[in-house]
Amino acid sequence: MKNPVCMLCSSTTNTVIRKTLRYEIKRDVLQCTRCSLVFLAPQSGATAYYTGKAYRKRHGPTLHKASSMREIFDAYFPHQGPIVEAVRTHLRPSMKILDVGCSTGHFLAALKGKAKERIGLELGKDEASFIRKNLDFKVYTNPIESAHIAEGPFDLITALQVLEHVPEPKSFLHGISRHLKPNGLLYLELPNIDDVLLSVFGVKGYADFYFREPHVCYYSKKTLKTLLSKAGFVGEFGTVQRYSFYNHLHWIQTGRPQASFADGNTIPEVAKGAGAPFRAKKEITAFLHDANLQYQKLVEKHMLGESLTFWGRKMF
Ligand SMILES: [Zn+2]
Repeated sequence: MKNPVCMLCSSTTNTVIRKTLRYEIKRDVLQCTRCSLVFLAPQSGATAYYTGKAYRKRHGPTLHKASSMREIFDAYFPHQGPIVEAVRTHLRPSMKILDVGCSTGHFLAALKGKAKERIGLELGKDEASFIRKNLDFKVYTNPIESAHIAEGPFDLITALQVLEHVPEPKSFLHGISRHLKPNGLLYLELPNIDDVLLSVFGVKGYADFYFREPHVCYYSKKTLKTLLSKAGFVGEFGTVQRYSFYNHLHWIQTGRPQASFADGNTIPEVAKGAGAPFRAKKEITAFLHDANLQYQKLVEKHMLGESLTFWGRKMF
């Protein structure tokens, strides 16, 4: 068999770092010897794969359950606050915004009233019809590389948890570039290969869960920077940690995920016993919230958050 080619630097020298993905699917996870990009070989990046039932069942907001479009929207919409907060300083009411890979439109729905125009792009036909039926913005279903978007060019383009699914990241970013105004902004969020549960705690169960079929590439700050500069973007890199400290303790102690996206993002209501005074429960609850905040800040400071972020502009 021919050696797989790195999507970032085209090198064919790499090492196999794992041989299985989530659900014990046999697939090689490779790391490029030259640029350190981590990627799957072979890859399943076809649109048909994303619209199939197996994908829904295996990769929705609730584990082991194929969620409906309404359930996906309802699971993610209440958690858009921190992402809206992340873009808030750059947001202007006069802006035209495009969200690439917008899924059921939960992020754009959360931006209602905060921008002049919101447009979504989503390859999944069911997600797009959910948006058309239920939400108040337009959605396109063509790949960004070939899409003709009448409302463009845009002041801000976002792609949240999308880049890791893209088998040709350079042409994807050139596609984005084409739809941005000359001084337009790009905001990305994507999984961080230096995630604290892998890099600091080395949780085996997390690694078994982390590497999964739809994610064809795993970026670090270094490889993301290389990619973006090849595609003509400059900007600021960061990481965010939104899953809670208690979700991480759960991983560290059990090696297993919590049942849903919502569980992992919520601070448990543990101080609910009947045997203690109100003040004791209040102070203990406040401590739990504070410990969570401090943990998240510490993880982000060391660039070990679950997601990498990028804010930037085109270089010309
Ligand atoms: Zn490479």
